[in-house]
Amino acid sequence: MVNDKMYELGSKRSVIREIFEYAKKRASEIGSENIFDFSIGNPSVPAPDCVNETLIDLIKNENSVKLHGYSSAQGDASVRKIIADYINKRFGTTVSGDNIYMTTGAAAALSIVLKSVATENSEYITFAPYFTEYKVFVEATGSKLVVLPSEEKTFDMDFDALENAINENTKAVIINSPNNPSGVVYPEKSIIRLSEILKKYSEKYNHIIYLIADEPYRELVYDGIDVPYPICYYDNTFVCYSYSKSLSLPGERIGYICVSDRMENWQTHYAAVCGAGRALGYVCATTLFQFLAAKCVDKTSDVSIYKKNRDMLYNALSEYGYECVHPDGAFYLFMKALEDDAYAFCEKAKKYELLLVPGDDFGCPGYVRIAYCVQPSQIERALPSFKKLIEEYNK
Ligand code: PLP
Repeated sequence: MVNDKMYELGSKRSVIREIFEYAKKRASEIGSENIFDFSIGNPSVPAPDCVNETLIDLIKNENSVKLHGYSSAQGDASVRKIIADYINKRFGTTVSGDNIYMTTGAAAALSIVLKSVATENSEYITFAPYFTEYKVFVEATGSKLVVLPSEEKTFDMDFDALENAINENTKAVIINSPNNPSGVVYPEKSIIRLSEILKKYSEKYNHIIYLIADEPYRELVYDGIDVPYPICYYDNTFVCYSYSKSLSLPGERIGYICVSDRMENWQTHYAAVCGAGRALGYVCATTLFQFLAAKCVDKTSDVSIYKKNRDMLYNALSEYGYECVHPDGAFYLFMKALEDDAYAFCEKAKKYELLLVPGDDFGCPGYVRIAYCVQPSQIERALPSFKKLIEEYNK
């Protein structure tokens, strides 16, 4: 007898994975140059040189037993100090290595934070469109995910909806900026407004309402846009960071949680994070990649390639008549489907070998996500198909 919920999660692939698998099958039939797979958020830009150079250097010169052994559960102390110092230098914060907990990517960071604060009847609020796995991670703690709309044109948070939704069970608000799938970056004024609301309702309900900032795309921003650092605005913040996209290392599984040192009783919260990591069986994040992250702490992949893709795609699709949300970051374009049913639209797009993801799973029916972390030549080849698709609708 298995757990029904786990069986359901494990036996059914996500829509993104379904399309990704279809793309592989279709590529084997007609050749990969003839299909336009925009389904999955796998970085297309190679890891920067420092990654391979550092790995070689570590393997050649570091003690092998240390490199491949267990680290402390929360991560190697020297690595955590380097990361904390870097955060402080960059954002003017005052965290220390004792505020950093190394994780196997943002997914683990989120799961650990959620488990560390979940109590009976906890509710977590997020804004659509949202990363689909939030529902899985939240429900795994026996809690409820409440999904609120975003502002119609800007895709910024809808603060009226937030004030209406917060109640005595609200445990945290989860934000993701730059956002998957909209590419939107919340401006400073929105982070200020959000923190004011969280403070107001924490006082009203006499318990902390946390901010959980999911930040795997922090480094992927264009045109010099600023991504406010949430810890500078709201004391009770957990930052869930990842090197998956910034260093193009999603398969290596490395990231961290930063528990704000301004959080009430942050040491207790940090201990609960350690406990949650232990309960979930994480043991420690990959040791080799902890050391790698420390050595490459201020490096990123070549983001200019994503910007080139963004410009090419956004400009051409807008010119053809598609309605797109302007993405300031991440590597996704969120576009209005040409009919109400985004699934039906994606099926029509398939006729032109365009593989897009319906927005329904992100909580936004009527939209599609286009992951432009692909070779620029794929976009060039795909544009005529996008043109033919809209022409079919305009007939
Ligand atoms: N959060 C968001 C918004 C994501 O898009 C992803 C991955 O695509 C994750 C979290 C998980 O990232 P990681 O690979 O670091 O676990």
